[in-house]
Formats: sequence, C-alpha cells, structure tokens
Amino acid sequence: EKLPADPVLDNSRRQVKSACFSYVRPKQTADPKLIHVSDDMLKNLGLTEADSKSTDFLNVFSGNTVMENTKPYAMCYGGHQFGNWAGQLGDGRAINLFEVEHDHKQWVVQLKGAGATPYSRSADGLAVLRSSIREYLCSEAMHHLGIATTRALSLALTGDEVMRDVLYNGNAEYEKGAVVSRISPSFIRFGSFEIFASRQETETLKTLVDFTINHHFPHLGTPSKTVYIAFFNEVVQKTLSMIVDWQRVGFVHGVMNTDNMSILGLTIDYGPYGWLEGFEEGWTPNTTDLQQKRYRYGNQPNIGLWNLYQLANALYPLIEEVEPLEDALNQYRTEFPKAMAQMMRGKIGLKTNDHSDKAIIQNLETLLQLTETDMTIFFRNLAAFKKDKPDEGLELIKEAFYTPTEVTDNIKQQWQDWFQHYATRLQMETVSDSERKKAMNAINPKYVLRNYMAQLAIDDADKGDYALIDELYQLLKKPYSEQPENEKWFTKRPEWARHKVGCSM
Ligand code: AMP
Ligand code: MG
Ligand code: MG
Repeated sequence: EKLPADPVLDNSRRQVKSACFSYVRPKQTADPKLIHVSDDMLKNLGLTEADSKSTDFLNVFSGNTVMENTKPYAMCYGGHQFGNWAGQLGDGRAINLFEVEHDHKQWVVQLKGAGATPYSRSADGLAVLRSSIREYLCSEAMHHLGIATTRALSLALTGDEVMRDVLYNGNAEYEKGAVVSRISPSFIRFGSFEIFASRQETETLKTLVDFTINHHFPHLGTPSKTVYIAFFNEVVQKTLSMIVDWQRVGFVHGVMNTDNMSILGLTIDYGPYGWLEGFEEGWTPNTTDLQQKRYRYGNQPNIGLWNLYQLANALYPLIEEVEPLEDALNQYRTEFPKAMAQMMRGKIGLKTNDHSDKAIIQNLETLLQLTETDMTIFFRNLAAFKKDKPDEGLELIKEAFYTPTEVTDNIKQQWQDWFQHYATRLQMETVSDSERKKAMNAINPKYVLRNYMAQLAIDDADKGDYALIDELYQLLKKPYSEQPENEKWFTKRPEWARHKVGCSM
C-alpha cells in the first residue's frame, strides 16, 4: 500500500489534509563543508571512506543535489506539546531524501536543517551548528551505549547564516548554519497517527498503521484488529525499555512531546537534552520547562505512559475497544517499576532478587541526592567495592561529591550504614568481587556526553576547530571501556559549566 501524498508541490507553509507527506526541495546552501562523518554509519549504508570524500557526497548530504530518481519529502504529523494538543506540526526542518537497503536492513536518510517545508509554520527550517553538533554526537553516543536511537551519518556546515535568539543572553544573533544527515529505519512518530485521529481521517490513519505494521512489524502478520492490538502492545514494550535505558545512563530527553516519540521506540529529536551530572530526580535540561519541570529525569517514565495514552486514543478508531488498549497501558504501569528495579539491581551488581533490594535501592537514591553526587562517577567507582571491606566504600566513591564540604559527619554516617547493608546483601550473592565489577562496568558507562563536553566541542567548532568533535566521537564509541588515554573525560563537570545547560533550537 502506498501512503497518500500531498498533491501540492511546493514548500509553502500550509495545513496539509488527507496526506502523510509532502514532496519538497531541499534549500541550496551557499558553501557546504563537511565537518564529520560517522564511519560506523557509512559502513551500515554500504559506503566507503572514499565515497564520503567525494563531491557528490558533500552535495547530497548538504541538500545541494537531489539524487536521480529520488523524491525528497517532509512528513505530516501532529503532537501533544507539554500536555496540550498542538495540531499539525510535521517535518518543519527535516527532509527525507531516500531509502537505502544494505545488509538486509532498510534505512531512511533525512536531512535536518535543509530549509522550510509546508510544516515550518513561522520558523525557517534551518539548524545552527551548535544544535547540530549536539544531535550528531549524542545520537551516535547513544547507539554505542546500546540504547535504541536514530543515528547520524554526517555533519556539515552550510555556509549560510541563521538568525537565532540565543536563549542564555537573550539577544538575536547570526549563527553558522549546519545540516545533519539523520538515519533511521523510520521517522514515524506517535504524532504521525494522532494527526489523522484528530482530523477524523480514519482511512488515512488505517493506511499509515497498516504501512507501519507491514514495514516495521511484519512478524505481527496481516493487519487486523487483533494485529493492531499486538502492535500497540509492542510499541508499549519498546517505549518502556527505551526509557529504562535512559534512566540507567542518566539521559534526560528534555522535550518528550508526542511528536518526539518514535513509533519504533527509538530516541529521537535531540534538542535540549542533557545528562545527569549530580543524580537528581528533579533535573531537566530544558530551560523552557523550569516551572513545571514536566520532562524532568524522574518523570520520564510517567511521561512515557502519558504519551502512550495519546497513541492509544489515536489508534482507538481502528480497534473500537477500550479494554485491550487499557490492558496494554496497565501492563506498562505494573511492569515499569519492576523493570526499573531490575535495572537498578544491575547498576549495583545484584544478580539475584531479594525482598531487601527495594529498600537498599531507595536508600541509595535518597543518599545520592543529599549532596550533589556525580551519577556516572559514583556507579563506575562503586564497581570496585569489596564485599568484605564495607569500611572502604566511602573512600571509593568520594570523588563523586561535587562539594566535599557539604558531606557532613551525619551524611558520612548514613553512607557508612548503606555500605554495611550493601555488603551484607552482597554476601548473599555467589559472584566474586571481580565478576561483579565486570558486570557493573558493562552497564554503567564510564564516558557519556556530559553537557560541558558538547559545549567545549561547540566553542571550538565556532572558531573553526573540529578536532574535539572527532575526539569525542571516538571516545564515545566505547563508553563502557577503560580508556586510560582519555581519563580526563572521566571527571566531574567543571565549575564554570554549573549553570550552563544545552539549549538548542
Ligand atoms: P521540536 O520541539 O524541536 O521537536 O519541534 C517541534 C516542531 O517544530 C516540529 O514540527 C519541528 O519540525 C518544528 N521546528 C522546530 N524548529 C524548527 C525550525 N527551525 N524551522 C522549522 N520548523 C521547526
Ligand atoms: Mg521534534
Ligand atoms: Mg527539534
């Protein structure tokens, strides 16, 4: 089945009815220049390093050349933004170029920042270097962390200037324009279904759902009501495991609007995301969400559920039964705490399951928030804990405290008590200290894209120096490995970066 296309063939902004996408032309760029290419993604697409150095590559992945027999398009979708229905959104600055089939995998290649589309509303369809570097580095880093995500192939300067209100100083400024080529098996979002449900375009909704199942969930069989329910259940599961993974590494998406929720359960749309430095349930990197903190770290699981409710509502016209959808949502509600507990057990190296685990984990989460404590350093250093030496615990992890003077005798005592309980609990396990360390280091990353690291790469790139982008890209390919030459990145956020979080537009 083919998805219905918008018959209008220009990039003018408009409401697009009864169509899943509009054909568009990428904007010509003034002076494109490649900054970085993901060698890993090149391989996935069956391209070589030599290919990536060709003029054709530069022209295609900056949007200046449209390959023969391809028809670039922007997708129509809607979404709930910060809890409110926002109507038509769509690919306002993303243009899908073509699909690549290689090694039995299919990839959609998309440019982000290649100019206005029918969905650009009042914005320009462009992206700045700053946000493009953040998306490029983080999506690849997430992949290497083993977390479901869209990918990136290339990062290029366009040679054009883009006007932006720089949020942290309030002034409008010209910035360097950039384009990232993003890659994913699909860019379909929850909002892709919501738009048709909201417009009561049930036929188009059905076409899109059938298309999604046939292409991305073929194991579910020929679309039918039963298959729609199975499809929803699978999206629930994928969303759940993606968010558990975010919690595990301290990734905070920042804008979990339903238009930013992939139907494949992939992390998508890297905007104002951030990484926990100090472990803090209430933290959000999104400077436009500081009142409500809707998308704070500790709320991501709840928001996942809220978003799945919106998807359930969108699919309802095809299923016409509330119960199977509610069952799936209830499954999420009951499974999430279990999955989180299992994940946290893993983070502290527990293989078996004991009734005391809940208290140990809860107490740990409380302790970590008594004084600002670096999440990554804490869990990484905890791996060296010896179950016969609980007294040495505090010494092992003290490097994770941001302000050692805040660690009062009382707090120290609470930590000592926790290490005692932890040691007692570890005595019930059969694994050795070194086996536990190995298992913990395989799920507690040593290197993540700390907010200040991306900022350093951005500051250098602004001055025309791209070496740090490559350094971080290489570093983050092996986030769980010891990299003695890169020990300098295993360190707390420097003081200058304390109140700087990554905004991005
Ligand atoms: P976001 O919150 O970044 O996911 O964006 C929400 C909507 O705004 C999506 O439809 C985007 O395509 C659109 N959008 C964001 N930035 C721009 C831009 N610079 N130009 C056009 N559309 C944009
Ligand atoms: Mg988006
Ligand atoms: Mg965005």
